[in-house]
Amino acid sequence: MSKVHNFGAGPCILPESVLIEAAKAVTNWNGSGLSILEISHRSPDFEAVITKTQTLVRELLNVPDNYAVLFLQGGASTQFSMIPMNFLQGKRRASYLDTGYFAQKAIKEARLFGEVEIVDSSRNKNYSYIPQSYEMAHGSAYLHLTSNNTIEGTEIFNFPKTSVSVVCDMSSDIFSRTINVQDFDLIYAGAQKNLGPAGMTLVIAKNAFLDSVKCSVPSMSDYRIYRDNKSMFNTPPVYSIYVAMLNLMWLKDKGGVEAIEQVNIRKAEMLYAEIDRNTMFEGLAHHDHRSRMNVTFKARDVETEKEFLTLASKEGMVGITGYRTVGGFRVSLYNALPIESVTALVSLMRDFEKVKLRAVPLVSSN
Ligand SMILES: *Cc1c(COP(=O)(O)O)cnc(C)c1O
Repeated sequence: MSKVHNFGAGPCILPESVLIEAAKAVTNWNGSGLSILEISHRSPDFEAVITKTQTLVRELLNVPDNYAVLFLQGGASTQFSMIPMNFLQGKRRASYLDTGYFAQKAIKEARLFGEVEIVDSSRNKNYSYIPQSYEMAHGSAYLHLTSNNTIEGTEIFNFPKTSVSVVCDMSSDIFSRTINVQDFDLIYAGAQKNLGPAGMTLVIAKNAFLDSVKCSVPSMSDYRIYRDNKSMFNTPPVYSIYVAMLNLMWLKDKGGVEAIEQVNIRKAEMLYAEIDRNTMFEGLAHHDHRSRMNVTFKARDVETEKEFLTLASKEGMVGITGYRTVGGFRVSLYNALPIESVTALVSLMRDFEKVKLRAVPLVSSN
């Protein structure tokens, strides 16, 4: 296909083979003469798709049998309110770790349903690190974490061991690295970063946690209804689930999460090494908490930043502008981004520095 290097943060790059297969299914799915977009979600063919997608999620993340795998809609943002609606109402409080923009959004919604305790925050340092040691007040309904802070470029590598139920927003690093599902009571992720196209939200939840809900919630916000109806209480996001299935098959083919994690580590190391070496750039996140999915950095001044952006866009590199609240650059290295794209970016950064270093003495000598 094209030579575009897509470093976008989300919706993001999907494997080319997945896109080709997904495109075929729009006009003639499985040789049926029908489009995947016009079949009944109750048909045996689609039931097979949703079952297979669930099975792949279970296999790839080693999800234990006492956890439900659910497909919802409304993005990760709907989970910000659905979680407290189910688990905070009628309880004293829930605890939140404030690690960035999306954690803040989750906190805002939770406050509509009960008391929110912010156990710690890295706001004072522009969310450039993950707070390490914090304590929770007694009787917290759950602790909410954001495993990867997509905008700020930090990632949690050590999850707290606690008796409190842990709920985690894994939207931007799920399937990028191995996790121990049993460390969590509920995991959620909007699909459009490492899983598939926008439109589907994955929830993995411990059955006992779901069964602990005592308050009444509307059907479309009731996790148990999704569980009891195999995620088909109403019409599910058929196409998003189908493309996610293709993407998970691709991942399994690549050797699964363990294998892709090694590639992701290499990609991130290559880019961070260049940021640290290159005198034109500077990383934004604390070394120990640097995200492998979203690499944030800045240029040494505004002029340099503009020059590099122009150069990168000429080379077909898209999606590297930092989020408006952070500025600088953000380069996303999701599963489907080939290592060649990272190599291309790193060599562009090297060449750029060479040119700039040659230019500087001329300017300063007059
Ligand atoms: C993108 C993102 C969200 C928001 O997801 P939507 O599906 O757009 O609602 C929430 N949390 C994190 C960590 C994200 O990266």
